[in-house]
Amino acid sequence: MKQGPLPKSVDARKACIKALELSGSVKASALSRLASVVSCEDTTISASLRFLRDEQRRFVVSTQVAGKVEVRCERCLEFMPLEVEAQSSLMLCSSDERAQQCPSHYEPLVYTGEELDLYEVIEEELLLALPVAPMHDSQCVEAVPEAVTELRVEDRKPSPFAVLANLTNDSKES
Ligand SMILES: [Zn+2]
Repeated sequence: MKQGPLPKSVDARKACIKALELSGSVKASALSRLASVVSCEDTTISASLRFLRDEQRRFVVSTQVAGKVEVRCERCLEFMPLEVEAQSSLMLCSSDERAQQCPSHYEPLVYTGEELDLYEVIEEELLLALPVAPMHDSQCVEAVPEAVTELRVEDRKPSPFAVLANLTNDSKES
């Protein structure tokens, strides 16, 4: 299915009342925080957002985002492709206090203005979905130069100054 571009922003409360459903694509390069942590020059993110009011009359945005980016493998430091996808149910909260009372099956989204920046919402969802330490499934560790490994072992040795500091402390206590 071919998707047109997603609108940049929407009046979220009105959208919930109208039970609006939006889906479309966003160029990842337009999401500056995402673009600063992954490589995603030609990447298109597809997103769909469903605005609704739940049985408690809460304003809810249910989101689904997906895209293919490139992240650096923590082991060999090479870029690797990664499919990112995330789904959330966000509850619009008019203040931080309201956000603290948000039921646990919703993610609070503090929203005071009239226009909700959909790009920001999508970007946040993608950033949260990124793995903390991405790594190749295969053993790519051979690619790590030995010098780097040695350096890391070296780092773990206590520095002579730290040992000296301990000695000084001990002598003060006795
Ligand atoms: Zn790797």
